[in-house]
Amino acid sequence: MKTLLMYEPGHVELTDLPTPEPAASEVLIKIVASGICTNDVRDYLGDCNYSYPRIGGHEFAGVIERIGSAVDPKRFRPGQSVVKYIIEDCKVCHYCRTGHENICEEHPRSKIFHATDGISGYCGFAEYVLAQADDIMVFEHERSFAKMAMTEPVACCINSIEQTNVKFGQDVVVIGGGTMGLLHVMLLVRRGARVIVSEPQPARRELARKFGAAAAFDPTACDAVARVRELTDGRGADAVYNTAAHPAVAAQAVKMCAPCGTCVMFSSIHPREDVPIDASALHSFQITVTGAVSPTISAYYEAVQVIDKGIIDPSPLIDSTFKPTEFDQAIARAQEPDSYKVILAFGDEEARS
Ligand SMILES: [Zn+2]
Ligand SMILES: [Zn+2]
Repeated sequence: MKTLLMYEPGHVELTDLPTPEPAASEVLIKIVASGICTNDVRDYLGDCNYSYPRIGGHEFAGVIERIGSAVDPKRFRPGQSVVKYIIEDCKVCHYCRTGHENICEEHPRSKIFHATDGISGYCGFAEYVLAQADDIMVFEHERSFAKMAMTEPVACCINSIEQTNVKFGQDVVVIGGGTMGLLHVMLLVRRGARVIVSEPQPARRELARKFGAAAAFDPTACDAVARVRELTDGRGADAVYNTAAHPAVAAQAVKMCAPCGTCVMFSSIHPREDVPIDASALHSFQITVTGAVSPTISAYYEAVQVIDKGIIDPSPLIDSTFKPTEFDQAIARAQEPDSYKVILAFGDEEARS
């Protein structure tokens, strides 16, 4: 099978590797579409401490090619369109046992990050990938694999929104109008919130309004915190989702919260830096500051549902599609500040039976 093997950061070659055979409990997925994540870009730039060689790509969708001998054929069959839950959850640690498998203790120790002998990675930049059958979720209706490949990013945003208890009619702020910010907008509009977006690029503000945001402003042209108060009868936002990676923006995000509001740090701050927070204001106004990382299994399942049933349509956020032979162009496009989700097409869209 063709794989985009990263020999070291910045050096990726389309390499032929043997197609893996599914073990009894596994399925073999033929990948059709695979999205490039910010994390893949950081990996490519040498900004991660993974082991190499490595195969990146964790936002993939494809078709079941073969199932292992112990997989229930009533549930999983060759030809089904599927995505894989990508966290290597051990199912037995404290976090797995308490419904937080996205924080599983074993995941960071898995060969996704460090393979002592062999290849590390999520392995979605390849023609085929193996998955445990119980990590597979099936699409019944959706036909576009690029859209199905948006499951993981959508699931991350669902997990973020589920850290808050948004009620109908509440005011929420999304900071950043990139792919993740705009997915937040789509989901929060469906959730019945009045959505305000803070984003410097005019085209992105325009798209946010198109997706149903009530207001979108340029934080470089005003006092962003004051602007949020103006738009919310002086109270601030009931929930703030910070998808920007700057320490100064994180501090502002907390200040945008209304009393009893919640601020979610969705983005990592890279490199890490402490952010000053007025702890006394958190006390006086009962403000919650929290974070959101990878999705839980239930958030992943919800993402499959919202895409499969057409409740949200992430296709306007699909930026461009490249062949695996065009990886260099694809990763370059993914680094451009005006890009959305860049897709690598490993199979043709007609692969579904
Ligand atoms: Zn991702
Ligand atoms: Zn675990």
